[in-house]
Amino acid sequence: MNIILFGPPGAGKGTQAKKLQDEYNIPHLSTGDIFRAAIKNKTPLGVKVKSILDSGELVPDETVVDLVADELKKEKYKDGYILDGFPRTVVQAKAFDEFLNENDDELDAFISLTVPEEELIKRILSRGEDRSDDTEEKIKTRLEVYREETQPVMNYYEKQGKVQKIDGLGSIDEIFNGIKEVLN
Ligand code: AMP
Repeated sequence: MNIILFGPPGAGKGTQAKKLQDEYNIPHLSTGDIFRAAIKNKTPLGVKVKSILDSGELVPDETVVDLVADELKKEKYKDGYILDGFPRTVVQAKAFDEFLNENDDELDAFISLTVPEEELIKRILSRGEDRSDDTEEKIKTRLEVYREETQPVMNYYEKQGKVQKIDGLGSIDEIFNGIKEVLN
């Protein structure tokens, strides 16, 4: 099962992706986690993207698409995956469609977590993840980037009839149950 977990920063994608990973035994792939690990380990990729993540802007499409395509070729993803934080632009979504086509594969679900913006800011500021991009100013930039570059990704999948919207307000388990209902 190939799933995209979609939503603005602070919507709870990471939390829900981990729960899905445990429930269905499908690996979770977070592009943000890969970038943060690369920065921490000072790899060439990390050095390249550090200032971009610090600013709250997006890493160039080509870099992200190559990274995801390489990652998804690994054995552990052969029976499916949960994407969190990718695709984040229409260019990435199109490239991902091509990747699926080339591999004779398809997307099973596009789950969009909806949360009002005021709630997102509150959540991110209180989650205490010690991220350099979790300051109020950077969160505003990330939300702007989301509105301008990432939201259109949902329209792209809506045209394919794939979007399932889930209310992202409520307890972690309530939201998780909503996602499970959609998947079953
Ligand atoms: P996240 O952990 O998903 O909030 O991602 C943290 C940061 O990593 C984002 O603000 C971007 O700078 C970068 N990033 C993660 N995924 C992508 C992506 N698909 N495209 C571009 N930049 C990304």
